[in-house]
Formats: sequence, structure tokens, C-alpha cells
Amino acid sequence: MKPVIAVDLGATNIRVALISGDGAIGKKISALTPATPEGPSDIVDTIITMIRSVSPGEKILELDGIGICAAGPVNPHLGTVVNPPNIALQEIPISGPLFKEFGLPVRLMNDCPAGALGEMYFGDGSGCRDFVYITISTGIGAGVVTGGKILLGRNGNAAEVGHFHVDTTYNAMCGCGHPGHWEAYASGRHLPEFFSRWCKENNTGISVERTRSSPGIFEAVRAGYAGLDDFMEELGRINARGISDVIAAYDPSRIILDGSVIRNNSDLLLPLLDRYIDRFLPLPDIMISRLNGLAPLLGASVIAHGYTTAAGSLLTGTDEDAEC
Ligand SMILES: [Zn+2]
Repeated sequence: MKPVIAVDLGATNIRVALISGDGAIGKKISALTPATPEGPSDIVDTIITMIRSVSPGEKILELDGIGICAAGPVNPHLGTVVNPPNIALQEIPISGPLFKEFGLPVRLMNDCPAGALGEMYFGDGSGCRDFVYITISTGIGAGVVTGGKILLGRNGNAAEVGHFHVDTTYNAMCGCGHPGHWEAYASGRHLPEFFSRWCKENNTGISVERTRSSPGIFEAVRAGYAGLDDFMEELGRINARGISDVIAAYDPSRIILDGSVIRNNSDLLLPLLDRYIDRFLPLPDIMISRLNGLAPLLGASVIAHGYTTAAGSLLTGTDEDAEC
């Protein structure tokens, strides 16, 4: 197979890479996602510039296609990202502008099932018929493989588990506009807000000045900052609630955890999961991804060759099906 361009459009970073037909990553670059885009073109133009950087000039015509995975709900039929909770735009038409620019097939999917696809082809999902890939990063989401096939739903957004309801005590507001969702507590974006709220409601007297970022909170925990063990227990309960719901919903034999929050802090977070996860269904193997954060990008490279994959067609269903 010919090489492809893979694009991972995250809420914090955009990654673009040239990837060979067998999954070897060639030139790869990343840039910050425009934090306050004035319109979709701010993001699309950034991606176009990045693609030209990894595959300049005429060589781009020798590629098989462009695969994009994006944070947040997508509509692959229209080639749009729709109402992403962590990017300040209602809609980002992306496949059309890239096709117009490069004249190559452009295929789009949600970044969480893309991560599952990456794990299935190149990581610890290989040979595993029932697993869930969960990313705890700027947001939280999942890709589900069941019976060897990816669970898609109507538009490939079937496992937006970051919007599972996990709490009624704090009712933290999620970026999607609803309270109590897992992502509103444990994601990199919302963890500092939850921490600040927890400190006030528990009268801890902890200075939140030093812990305004997620990495800052985990650094303070490692430094033995007084009172933070109780917060970590609460965070552990929240994460375990989300993962218990994942287990109850999908009955996986393996859960692969990815995303910077869990990858960088697995020493603190995994023991808490083990303590608080429900033992209703048999406990799956729970492990950290070994693809160094590249699972979604690798998944995007798979669909760049076409929506038909070893995990089934990634383009089942149409908008019209919703009326059935
Ligand atoms: Zn939500």
C-alpha cells in the first residue's frame, strides 16, 4: 500500500504525520490547536500548512489518501466535526476543504474509535476481540471493539463515555453543557476546576494557586502536599465510577488506557481504580497504552486507505437511517 497522511485533531494539539502502508511513522509534526479560532478556517488552514510540511510538492499526489481523527463528535458523511465540547466552534467542515486543496480522498472519524483501531492494528488490541480503548486527556472518550468489530453507532460516536453521568454531589458542569459528566471532573481540562471546587467545599485551606493545572496537582500530590490524599481518593472514586460503567456497558476482556493525564500519572491513578472499580462483571485486564500517545494517529492512517478495515466498515449507517 502507498503511504498516507494521518491527522490527529485534538483539543490541545494537532499532529500530522506521513505514515507508510505498514504503519511506520515518517515525518511527524505537531502544533497547538488554535485556542480561540475565529472560524473553522483557522483550524483547516493550520492542518493544510502542516500537511504541506510533511509531504511537500508533487509527492502528495503519490499518496493513498488522508485520514483524520478528531476530538469530539463527527459526521463522516458530511466530513464535519460537530459541536466539539473542547474546541470553541459549533461545526468544523474539514474533509471537503482538504479534498479541494489536495485532490486526495479524505476520511474522517472520531479520535476515540481511531485510538481503538490503532491499538487493534499496532498495539495491545491486536488479537483481542473485546476491548475498550479509553483516553483521559483534555477530554475523555472511548473506542469499543466487540466481537472483533468497532462499535460505531449512527455516526461513529458510540462510546462518548466522558459524558457518562458519574456524580450528583458536585454537579460539575461539562463542556457539553450538562452537569455531572466524568469529563467534567477527571479530564485535563476540567480537573483544576474540580480540585478548586473540592477544596472550597471541604474547607481544606489548601492554596489552589499552586495547583491551577492538572500537572501541578499531580506534582503537589507527589510532593506530599498535606490534604491531597483525600482529593485523590475522591478523584479515584470518580474515575472508577466511569470505568465501572464502561465494564457494565461493554463487558470487555481488556481496557487500554491512554491520554496524557493517565499515562503521566498511572502510578497515582491505577491503584485507586483497583480499589474502587465495581466487581459486578469479571474484571478485565487494565493496562496503559504502549503506543506513546500515537494510537489515534495510527488509527487515522488505517482509514486513510479506506473506510473498510479489519474492524469492519467505518462508514456504516447514514443520516437517513436515523429516521428508521
Ligand atoms: Zn458532557
